[in-house]
Order: sequence, then C-alpha cells, then structure tokens
Amino acid sequence: MIEFRSEPLVARFLRPGGQELCEAVNEVRWDPLTGRTMRITAPGRPVTRPPATPEAIPETVLGRDNCPFCKDLAEVTPGIRPTLQSPRALKSGEATLFPNLYPYGTNSAVICLTREHHVPIQRFSRAQLRNGLAVARDYVAKVQAAEPEARYVNITWNLLPPSGGTLIHPHFQVNADHIPVNRLREDLTASARFKERTGSDYWRALIATERRLGTRFLADIGQSAWLVPFAPRGQMEVWGILPHRTKVADLTGAEMDSLAEGLQNILNGYARIGINSLNFAIETDESPPELLPVRLRVVARSIFRAWYRSDQTHFTVVLDEFTTIRAPEMTAANLRSDFDAPAGLEPERARA
Ligand SMILES: [Zn+2]
Repeated sequence: MIEFRSEPLVARFLRPGGQELCEAVNEVRWDPLTGRTMRITAPGRPVTRPPATPEAIPETVLGRDNCPFCKDLAEVTPGIRPTLQSPRALKSGEATLFPNLYPYGTNSAVICLTREHHVPIQRFSRAQLRNGLAVARDYVAKVQAAEPEARYVNITWNLLPPSGGTLIHPHFQVNADHIPVNRLREDLTASARFKERTGSDYWRALIATERRLGTRFLADIGQSAWLVPFAPRGQMEVWGILPHRTKVADLTGAEMDSLAEGLQNILNGYARIGINSLNFAIETDESPPELLPVRLRVVARSIFRAWYRSDQTHFTVVLDEFTTIRAPEMTAANLRSDFDAPAGLEPERARA
C-alpha cells in the first residue's frame, strides 16, 4: 500500500590524475505520501563531525544581560487577552506561556521553557519538555473554545542560533489561526488523497509498515510511535506520531509524557554525536475530518560553534530539495540505542 520509491543516480568521471573511469552513486527518494523528492549524496560515506563542547559557544553569546526571559516575566511579557478566559500567563512547572510581542498569526504565543538561561541539549529534563507541551495544549484548548475557526495549530522550537532562534533562552512557540502553513496544507491534502485512493489511513499504514520493516523504526512509547522518515526534509529527522490523536487540545497527560520521553531520547542521541541545535514542529488541524495525527518532527541543525557552517545550501534555499549524506537508515541506527534506554532514566543521569 505504501511505496518506498527510490532511484540510483550514477555520476561517471575520470579518477583525479588518471584515465580510469569511476562511478559515484547518489540516490533520489520520493516521499511516499507527497511525492516530493530528496537526495542522498555519497551514501555510505562516513559522517564526521567536530565535537560540540560547551566551550565552543562564546560567552558573549551565552550572556544573560539582554535576555528578556531572565527578567521578571510578569513585568516584561504581554498578557493573554480576557476573551480566552485565561490567566494573564499559563504555567506548568518551569514553563510559562504568554502572547508573542511580535506575533506571526492571530494567536501567536511564546513558551519560556526553563528558568535557566542556557540549557545544553542533553540537560533538558523530561518534565521541562512535558511542561512546555502541557501549556501549549492548555493554550490551544482555550483558543479553540473561543475561536474554533483558528483550527490550524503549530507548536515549534528553534534551539540555538543555527536553528533561527533569536534568543538563547529555551522557548517553544505556538500559533493557531484560520490559514494553515504550507507543510500542513500539503500533508492534509496528501493524506486525504491517500484515503480516497486506498480507503486507509496513511499514518497508521506507515507505522505498521515501518514497524514491520524495522530499519527506520525506533520504538513505541506508550501510544506514540517513533521512526525516521524514508524521505526526510531535514538532517537526522525523526518523527514521533500519535496515530489515534489528531488535536493538540485533546492530548492526554500520558500522551504528552510519551512525546516528552521520545523527544528527550532524540536530544540525548543528538548530543552524543555532537549536535547541539535543532528545530521541531507539531502541526495540526483541530477540526474534522481529522486526517493528520499529532506528529512531532525533529530536525538537527548545524552545530553551534564559532564559524559554524549553515546546513542550508542552495539545494534547500533556492531549489527546495533536501540533500543529506546520512541515509535515514543510518540515522535510525545511530539513535536506536537512545530509544532502548531504560524507561526510568533520570535527567540527572543523562547529565553525566
Ligand atoms: Zn535568559
């Protein structure tokens, strides 16, 4: 039912300094849902990365002096409007949600995740991540109750400057309005097309297929399934999918626990191989026909250190085609041990 289509592209040239003809094989893959292509260049080539040590981030960048989130949040942040029947700010543990002073939609909000100004990627606790999701859920529920037309939701994270983040201080963003972002629109349309064509739900079929194949499947955590997509659109992309949940507003405590656990596994895995910056997104349609499950997508970004190189080349920025030298199956092999870790792993132990 799900077709994993790929095609090798063979480049032929004379060996440097010689006359011998040699070949270099690349691979084009089609996304099984949308048909978008991506390229794996030099598959099998070993991936080497410099270590991301804390010392690599200059003190001038980590400084707290100009950070608004290190000040008294109640003093410097806007308050939620009264029509949402909400306190001025929503809180859960260390997480605090307030409207975005520079909004990019009608219900644009920021979630300050931690009291600490800079948290290395492997030091985020499961509770911190879960609390960030919990205030996002509470906020989306209040928006939905007051403005059902604001049905298209995204929850996002830029961690450190390579991801586009403007503030070091960890923060999620959330928005809900009546116009979906391109990615959500494309995935909703493609999911509807798949259902019309096959009579089946794409996402449940995908999880069942990937679980059976095993090469890109990472783990089931509670109701969530974690896998590396066949045709990713970002470096070391990982998805956590809740196949039976389509609305952020309906997320249960157990479901948020499972998302936080999987996310923490990814952060630990990224840290282990030297990555310290990422983007993530959850995008949903909070109204029927409920075609797209809650899906958390995580993408690694360039390692934040002095003179780092952007991972966004001409391919991504002007050709709109993702390329990587790391095959998705290699990403899965790299991260699998992080998902096999004992369920009771404490964040303190992860700091060691
Ligand atoms: Zn700060």
